[in-house]
Amino acid sequence: MRSGIEGKVMAERSYLQFIGGRPVEGGGGGSIERRSPSDGRLVARYADGTAGDVDLAVAAARTAFEEGPWPRLSGLERAAILNRLADLIRDNRDRLTRIEVEEVGKPIRFARGDIDGAVALTRYAASLAMQMAGTVHTNLGAGKTALITREPVGVAALVTPWNFPALILAQKVPFALAAGCTVVLKPSEFTSGSAFEIAALAVEAGIPAGAFNVVSGYGATVGDHLTAHPGIDFVSFTGSTRTGRRVVANTSTNLVKSSVELGGKSANIVFADADLDAAVDGALTGVFFNNGECCISGSRLFVHARVADGFIARIVERSKALRVGDPFDEATDIGALIDEGHLAKVTAMIAAGVDEGAALILGGRAPAGAPGHFCEPTIFDRVEPGMTIFREEIFGPVLSITRFDTVEEAVRLANDTAYGLANYVWSKDIETVLTVAARLKSGWVQANTAIDGAPQLPLTGVRGSGFGYEMGEAGFQEFTQLKTLLIRTGPRTPVFPAGAWPGPPSPADGRAASAI
Ligand code: NDP
Repeated sequence: MRSGIEGKVMAERSYLQFIGGRPVEGGGGGSIERRSPSDGRLVARYADGTAGDVDLAVAAARTAFEEGPWPRLSGLERAAILNRLADLIRDNRDRLTRIEVEEVGKPIRFARGDIDGAVALTRYAASLAMQMAGTVHTNLGAGKTALITREPVGVAALVTPWNFPALILAQKVPFALAAGCTVVLKPSEFTSGSAFEIAALAVEAGIPAGAFNVVSGYGATVGDHLTAHPGIDFVSFTGSTRTGRRVVANTSTNLVKSSVELGGKSANIVFADADLDAAVDGALTGVFFNNGECCISGSRLFVHARVADGFIARIVERSKALRVGDPFDEATDIGALIDEGHLAKVTAMIAAGVDEGAALILGGRAPAGAPGHFCEPTIFDRVEPGMTIFREEIFGPVLSITRFDTVEEAVRLANDTAYGLANYVWSKDIETVLTVAARLKSGWVQANTAIDGAPQLPLTGVRGSGFGYEMGEAGFQEFTQLKTLLIRTGPRTPVFPAGAWPGPPSPADGRAASAI
């Protein structure tokens, strides 16, 4: 087996909390051991954080926001520092890649892509640091001008999942910092290593102490306390729909605004007129990319009945050739799932598919003799909307196939889900693409491509997939707040023409100026 990186066994890593620009002992003293999901080796220890650690980190971020230089730097200065951070992430690409492979279990090719993606996102966010522009209204009547300015929202609490630790960090942290916010990040208990590494690189790049804090620990303690904390101004959360609901309940206590990027059950719709070679590639990428542990995974494949038999046969043949195993091997297509519990959940879903009558046409088991948490590429045909595997997010290498006859039926099936994150359409007919895309209930639609994207393009969900924006200008603006400044520079003038309004209020009649 060919190792992706020479000497793949790294020294076991130990991380303290990262608060106020340096590693600090947490208040709890305990640690969380991370074992590699592919071979069980102990690879990292993270501090088992406490509410007290969160309080310290929020206080550090608050001080850095209210008194520190970061929000007061010019956009150009912030951009220069964020570009230095991008350089440092790039320079540490091999180390960060190994950490992601060891902690997540994902194939090295994908882990490397994540780090490259983190560099690209950081550079793009740097460019946005110079875009804190507002608007000026000059036609409000004689003697009145209004400035609508954009300010950093304040201290941002960021919570990330385990499937793309560095990449999703980079969808949040550089955007928040570009806006002038300071942050407290809680990474997943399974995959906290890259967050601590990148926080240390941020200090090296020149991001001031306290602007970027990381607190590791469990969601029920650290995550819950952080998202309900009265000292934060905004929460950006990525994770499951179940936890997202809890986070939104927490933010409602303090009326803090939030953006929640949640689960998905995306449809991949293949029309008969599609470029079927490209659609086969896209369907495979759609479901097996990142072990299927991907929020925008195209886990439900809908194929037009006219081309279904041949198309499905090709999908099955190509899936048989996928290599499952050592994630450090450059030839591996599917690595290890995140942990034993998750593998058990995925296999329970597969069992439910069989029990409920779907046709298992490939896979369904853990590969023989593998020591880690592996699952074969698995394909079900003849999946019906009432089945568990049609409705629930599996988050593993499991594809459900359903055939359709009409555009109407395809749209109805695709929308028959509680989620609304992404959908994919394959057709050479632009009218089909546009009309179907318009009818799909999801924040994101990709046509004739799969698991694609760019830092400029916002990701958003609807329905059970959440709300708010990540990436793009909209993602940047989530970390900002508008302020309206109305300036009177001359004598007061009526707002409405005579007759339509009783006249400007005078102090004598007690009407407040805010009434107009
Ligand atoms: P979880 O919801 O289990 O966890 C996400 C994060 O939330 C983790 O850091 C977790 O901590 C933390 N958390 C858990 N409980 C709480 C709580 N009460 N308060 C605050 N934070 C808490 O998701 P997973 O990590 O299992 O990630 C997989 C899910 O993420 C899938 O549903 C997937 O679709 C979704 N996802 C969505 C994306 C999107 O952009 N829409 C992108 C990627 C994933 P800990 O694990 O340490 O306990």
